[in-house]
Amino acid sequence: MSVVEAEDGDEAVALARNAHPDLILLDINMPRLNGVAACVQLRAEDEFRDVPVVMVTSMDDLDTIKQAYDAGATDFIVKPFNRTVLAQRVRHLLRAAKAFEALRESQAQLEQAQRLAQLGHWQWELGSDAIGCSDEAYRLFGVEPGFALNSKLVEAAVHRDDLSRLKESVSAAIKAKRPYLVEHRIVRPGGQQRIIEHRGEPSFDAQGRAVRLFGTIRDITAQKEAEERIRYLAHYDALTSLPNRAMVRERLAAALNKAVKYDVLVAVMSLDLDRFKRINDSLGHVVGDELLNEVGRRLRETVRSEGDAPSPQREADIIGRVGEDGFALVLRTTREQVHELAKVANRVLASIRQPFRLGGQEVFPSASIGIAVFPYDAEDADTLMKNADAAMYHVKQSGRDAYQFYSKSMNASAVQKLSLESELKRAIERRELTVAYQPKLDLRSGRIVGAEALVRSPARELAAVGPAQIVALAEEAGMIHELGGFVLRSALTQARAWQTQGYAVPKMSVNLSPLQFRKSDLVRMVSSTLQDVGLNASCLELEITESAVMYNETQAIAVMNALRALGVSLAIDDFGVGYSSLGYLARFPIHCLKIDRSFIRDLPDDQEQAIVTRGIISMAHGLELITVAEGVDSAAQMDFLRHHGCEQAQGYAVSPPLQAEEFAQQFLGATARVAAL
Ligand code: C2E
Ligand code: MG
Ligand code: MG
Repeated sequence: MSVVEAEDGDEAVALARNAHPDLILLDINMPRLNGVAACVQLRAEDEFRDVPVVMVTSMDDLDTIKQAYDAGATDFIVKPFNRTVLAQRVRHLLRAAKAFEALRESQAQLEQAQRLAQLGHWQWELGSDAIGCSDEAYRLFGVEPGFALNSKLVEAAVHRDDLSRLKESVSAAIKAKRPYLVEHRIVRPGGQQRIIEHRGEPSFDAQGRAVRLFGTIRDITAQKEAEERIRYLAHYDALTSLPNRAMVRERLAAALNKAVKYDVLVAVMSLDLDRFKRINDSLGHVVGDELLNEVGRRLRETVRSEGDAPSPQREADIIGRVGEDGFALVLRTTREQVHELAKVANRVLASIRQPFRLGGQEVFPSASIGIAVFPYDAEDADTLMKNADAAMYHVKQSGRDAYQFYSKSMNASAVQKLSLESELKRAIERRELTVAYQPKLDLRSGRIVGAEALVRSPARELAAVGPAQIVALAEEAGMIHELGGFVLRSALTQARAWQTQGYAVPKMSVNLSPLQFRKSDLVRMVSSTLQDVGLNASCLELEITESAVMYNETQAIAVMNALRALGVSLAIDDFGVGYSSLGYLARFPIHCLKIDRSFIRDLPDDQEQAIVTRGIISMAHGLELITVAEGVDSAAQMDFLRHHGCEQAQGYAVSPPLQAEEFAQQFLGATARVAAL
């Protein structure tokens, strides 16, 4: 240790600047600049801010000691002094200065470390509700360091959905006298959200009352994002951004758990592109990848999944890519709706069949789909996926580009419905449906004045369930417009053919499904069909049911008026079984009422039916509507109806529906059999 001496205050300051002392002894009484003033000057300089300064004073100048402290002196010593005591003091002060420096350094390091770790610490005095924070803690909250915080302000910064969870943890920790750890979001004044790892620990007074909480908060937003990213990479397919097999399995298992609770069905569709390897090998991986991507996109578009905006078309819980060219769909359904799966499968197949263009190349993809349904086909996710695959492989073997249910899939009726539906689809596509014609007899003249066109199918199963069921199926499967359009065109073409053969053509009646009636292009479709066929609109009558017109009265009237404007006649079919309100009929531009066969069946003996039927006939007449009795199958019924003024009869007593040639033979031309009455 070396000592340098100065003559006065000025020299002391100058010397200190050169010598960088570890400790400075200043006599208070010095010429020119006294000790107190010198101390003030030294302390003003950064270098000397923390250097211990010891003031030396005499017994009679003790008053200046306060001044010395105010000037920043560290300690003082009184003259005359004992050298040993001075040495002790100096040694002690040097040690303290070192320790202080180390503390300050470590505090700075701590601050820096905390800033780097985005870790802030805080302390909450429960009594005064004052919260003290480190700079980093303030930064995390997005407020200026030093801002006076209390619990209300902190609560306001916590994300409202997380607040009750945080408060519960804190009070539980106080109660159990243990630390807590909560992850929650905070919202900074600018609205930015951060995710915080929040640890705290209560401390207690001698009576065991909680007096203070202290703890740390750490910004883990980036960490969470990284975790999310890792999770994404682990669960999603990088090419298509669809969930991968692991994710599909996980979500399927969760769906199965829920399904048990809510008694719903869960279907897995395993979809595999047909001949993908060939495309990949011949056109290259880039095209292959593009194709896979496009298939993923089409799947998402065709079968919306949960992540998408709510929509009635949302059917899939998850759409995933589970193999190289394999995709999986998880769909929830119910026992009543299980046949809908076939529709979804058909839609998916149709969407994949769309040709695909890449760099001038046209690719014609197709896919095979296997469907397995929980709980029929398997109880767990793995087996369900396996069975869906098995069904899919079966499709591959039997020609591809189709779907198939795993064999035990559904109860007999659902299976029947499904096979009926695909049979109907085939029948429509292959134009295998036919139309039968049932005559309408004019009860006064005894002449055949009309024919109702009724759809028929030669396919065995379809024929067995009957036209009403076929129509219902077509409505459900979205095929009713094709079916209806086919019947209309066939019937008109037939009428036109009879016309050209020189027959007096009966008015042709065609049934319209309510769905057809509500379709916006109905009027255009009818008029263009008439035009194509070359038939006058007055030859056509459309039969609509009450349910079709009651759906939206104003719109129905507009449609009916437009049809009437074409020259087409309108009849209400099956009158009496629906709303049976004669009142609204007055507002509708119709000309005919068909009395449902349930009112005819027990005529003439059933008194009640007789009264109702007579009532309908006379009220219809009051509205200037003609009446047609349906399902007339006896001469007695016919007599009754004629007697009460019903204009026409249709039913087995006249004739069952017939194929066109037979109809012509029996009811048209010279050899026509005049109805035996
Ligand atoms: P609908 O329009 O009331 O047709 C009359 C039904 O009564 C026909 O049944 C006909 O065969 C049946 N029928 C005729 N005479 C008698 C009889 O004396 N006794 C009995 N019990 N029944 C008789 P079909 O052909 O089975 O058609 C059933 C229903 O299916 C039709 O009822 C109609 O609602 C619907 N339908 C048939 N073809 C078409 C079509 O092309 N389009 C639409 N939208 N619906 C159709
Ligand atoms: Mg009808
Ligand atoms: Mg009817």
